Amino acid sequence: MLTYFPVPYEDELLYSCVARYALHTGQADNQKAVIRDIFGIGTAVAIPDIPSHLQDLSRNVSRVWKTNVNQLIAEFTLAPLYFPFLSEMQVRQTISSMASKEGGKIHTRMGLVASSIQPPTYFRFCPKCLEEQKRILGECYWLRKHQLPSIDVCIKHNCKLENSNVYFHPKQKHHFHSAIKECQPCTAQAIEVNKDERRLIEFHEQLLMNPILQGFGPNRWSLFYQSLAKDLGFVHKNRVQHHDINLFLRKKWGNSRFNVYLDEDNSNDWITNLFRKHRKSFHPIRHLMVTSVLMPERTLSEVLDLVAKLPTERIEPVKITVPTDMPAVQIKSHRDEWNKLIEDNPAWGVKKIRTLSSGSRVYAWLYRNDGDWLMFNSPKEDKSTMRRKVVDYQDWDSKNVINLEAIYAELVQSKERPRLTQSYLVKQLPRANSIQKHLIDLPQTKQWLDSHAECLDDYIILRLNTAYRIIIEKNVEVKRWRLIRIANIREELITNRIENEIQLLENKGK
Ligand SMILES: [Zn+2]
Repeated sequence: MLTYFPVPYEDELLYSCVARYALHTGQADNQKAVIRDIFGIGTAVAIPDIPSHLQDLSRNVSRVWKTNVNQLIAEFTLAPLYFPFLSEMQVRQTISSMASKEGGKIHTRMGLVASSIQPPTYFRFCPKCLEEQKRILGECYWLRKHQLPSIDVCIKHNCKLENSNVYFHPKQKHHFHSAIKECQPCTAQAIEVNKDERRLIEFHEQLLMNPILQGFGPNRWSLFYQSLAKDLGFVHKNRVQHHDINLFLRKKWGNSRFNVYLDEDNSNDWITNLFRKHRKSFHPIRHLMVTSVLMPERTLSEVLDLVAKLPTERIEPVKITVPTDMPAVQIKSHRDEWNKLIEDNPAWGVKKIRTLSSGSRVYAWLYRNDGDWLMFNSPKEDKSTMRRKVVDYQDWDSKNVINLEAIYAELVQSKERPRLTQSYLVKQLPRANSIQKHLIDLPQTKQWLDSHAECLDDYIILRLNTAYRIIIEKNVEVKRWRLIRIANIREELITNRIENEIQLLENKGK
C-alpha cells in the first residue's frame, strides 16, 4: 500500500504519473522497485496507451488516491479514443483485461495491431506546453492528447508536436520514462490549421475529455452511416452514391495535412466500406474525418448520442408465408390461440401443451395448414424438466466481473441513479438470484462487489452534488437547508464527512 502517489495533472497519462512517482521517490534508476511499489508484483509492463494491472494499481494507491479501474481508464489512458467504435463485447473484454494482470492481447483484440494507422513512434510534446508546465508546475508530464495516432499538432498553440527521445512502444517495456528527462526544449514550429482540421482535432480531444466506456458496435454504425447518406441526399433509388461521397470527402481533405488518411495502403476503399454494412471496426480517425465534415452543425456528443439510440442488432423481418387456400382470418385465429397457450404456460414444451385438449386441436390444425409458422413458433424444450447443467463457476465468475464492469461504467455516469448497493448491482446481471445464492462460489464477483458497492455516505454525497447543481441552475443561494431538502436527506444520517461536504458546497456556491 503506497503512502505517496503524485496527484495527476489534467489529461495526464497514467504512465506519466508513474514516471513522476519514480522521480519524486528517487527511484528513477530502480524501475524494478517502482513496478513492485505500484503494482505489487515485479512483472507488470510499462504500456502508455492501453495499460493493464489497473486493479492492482488502484488498490495500491487507495490510501492516497480514491480511484477505480473505470476512472483510470476513462481519464488517464487512450482507451476512450477507441471505445465507441468497437463492439460492446470488445469494450467489455478490453476493460476486463486492463483491470487484470493479463494485458498481453489487448492491442490485438482491439484491432490496433492489424490497423494501418499506428501509434506515434516516439512520445511527443508541444514545446510551448512544455515550457508552460515547467513555469507553472515546476515539472513536466506526458499529455494524452499529444500521443494520439494521426494527430501531430497542438491546437492550443498552433504548433507542431515534437518527438521526444523515448519510443512510445519500446522493446524494453519495464521503464517509465519521465517527460522532464526526455524532452529537449526547442523552438516551436508554427502550423496553420484550417477550420476543418481544427474541428477534427477537437473531435479527437473530446473523445478523451468526455469519455464513453461503451462500444456501439458495427450494426449501429452501419445504420448510422446509411441514414446519414440518405439525409444528405447521397442516396439515389435506394443506392448509396459512394462516388459522390468519395468526391466530397476528397475535396474536403485532399489539400489538408490529413490527406494521407484518405487512402488505405492495401487499396481498400474505406470510405465506401464505411457506408456499407460494417464487417469490422474502423479506426477513430476514419469516423471522425467523415462525421466532422458531413455533420458540420453537430457536436461530437450529439453525433454519438444519435448512434447510441440505434438498435444494436439488425432485426431481420420474420418471413410469414400464408397458405393461399386457407382464409387469412382462420390462420390468424389459430396462431393467436397457439401463442396464448404458450403465454399461459411459459415453462411448458410442445409435448406438454399438446396434452391439453385445446393444445392438441390447435397444434394439429396448424401442423396441417401452417406448418412453417408452427415450426418457428413453438417452445423448444420443456423448461421445467430441463436437465440441470454442470456449472462452470470459474467461467461464470469471470463473466460476471466483465458484465459488472460494463454495467457499472454506464450506471456510475448517470446523475440520477439509485444507490449502487451490492444487491442492486447483482440484480443487473443475468441469473441474479442464482448469483446471490452462490456468491461464496464466485470469489471474483464477490471481491468486485465488495470494492465497488457504494456506502450510504458516498451516495448521500452524490445526491448533495446533484442538489448543488440544481440550486446553481436555479440561480438561488446555496444554503445548508436547501441542499438537504433537495437532496432529500434525513438529519440523523448526516455524519461528519457529509457535514464537511455540505460546508464545502456552501462555500463553493458563495
Ligand atoms: Zn501546446
